[in-house]
Amino acid sequence: EAKKQRIPYRLYCDALDNDAKTRLALSSKLHLALAENQFELYYQPLVKSKVTKTHHFEALLRWPQADGSFIPPDQFIPLAEQNGSIRQVTLWVLDNIVQHLADFAKQDIDVCIHINLSVLDLQDERFSAQLAALVRDGKLSPTQLVLEVTETAIMADVTKTRDILSKLSGMGFSISLDDFGTGFSSLSILRELPINQIKIDRSFVMAMHNGNTNNAIVRSIIFLAQNLGCSVVAEGVETQAIAEELIQLQCDYLQGYYYCKPLPLAAVFPYCEQQGWK
Ligand code: C2E
Ligand code: CA
Ligand code: CA
Ligand code: CA
Repeated sequence: EAKKQRIPYRLYCDALDNDAKTRLALSSKLHLALAENQFELYYQPLVKSKVTKTHHFEALLRWPQADGSFIPPDQFIPLAEQNGSIRQVTLWVLDNIVQHLADFAKQDIDVCIHINLSVLDLQDERFSAQLAALVRDGKLSPTQLVLEVTETAIMADVTKTRDILSKLSGMGFSISLDDFGTGFSSLSILRELPINQIKIDRSFVMAMHNGNTNNAIVRSIIFLAQNLGCSVVAEGVETQAIAEELIQLQCDYLQGYYYCKPLPLAAVFPYCEQQGWK
């Protein structure tokens, strides 16, 4: 009887221990990855429902490993937030986006890049000045960048976030509210913060079916965004049926595997060519 109880306890300890060890190992490899430029940016198009000149892509970070696999950002971004390297990660991402924007310009493709910000970027008073310097040195317009922030990141410190987002918005950057609907925040953030775009979380989009709750939620968010003068993106569009439904609802942008997976930069230019954008 006593033996029976000890077994699951030991298993639990070992599992926890292994997990902690893996995370510790990853965490220490992160600093090296930054120093050695091991990261890579992938780009996923946001497909427009209306014809406009500018093409939108979201930059998604990848950490390739020697064996050809990737460590997903969902795994290493939280570690970078814990070990204090996230601010450098964001600056690395921005630096690379600035270079890639120059590449797009050379190819004569008019693009706007979406970048994912961490809660810690929004808490750092230096961030707006860093962003301003990058844009100035790269001879870019702030309208070429969209800053994606999550409700959860905003709620960590609403007052601080409101200040920084107002500053960034005043400088001409667009603010996109990512993972909308999952953050348990109140709708007042839409009223109190300078939000230009709402991205409907993929959990609602992927589970859309005629007449179900997810469908009703997606419809209502699109309606809300339209009435607030925000553009609206549906992420996680995986099927033609859902794409057609979203187009009918006049969703502004559709993003998902149905249209295109995130692509390495080298594959983005052929994609643009195939789309007739250059
Ligand atoms: P996110 O910002 O919500 O990004 C969307 C995620 O959904 C991406 O996962 C993308 O590859 C995936 N996705 C796109 N289309 C589909 C689809 O049709 N179906 C499904 N099931 N998934 C789809 P990814 O690239 O693994 O990134 C995960 C998260 O990691 C991102 O979620 C974002 O929160 C974070 N992240 C990625 N890159 C960065 C970065 O540069 N900085 C920061 N701070 N976070 C990042
Ligand atoms: Ca995002
Ligand atoms: Ca999202
Ligand atoms: Ca997410």
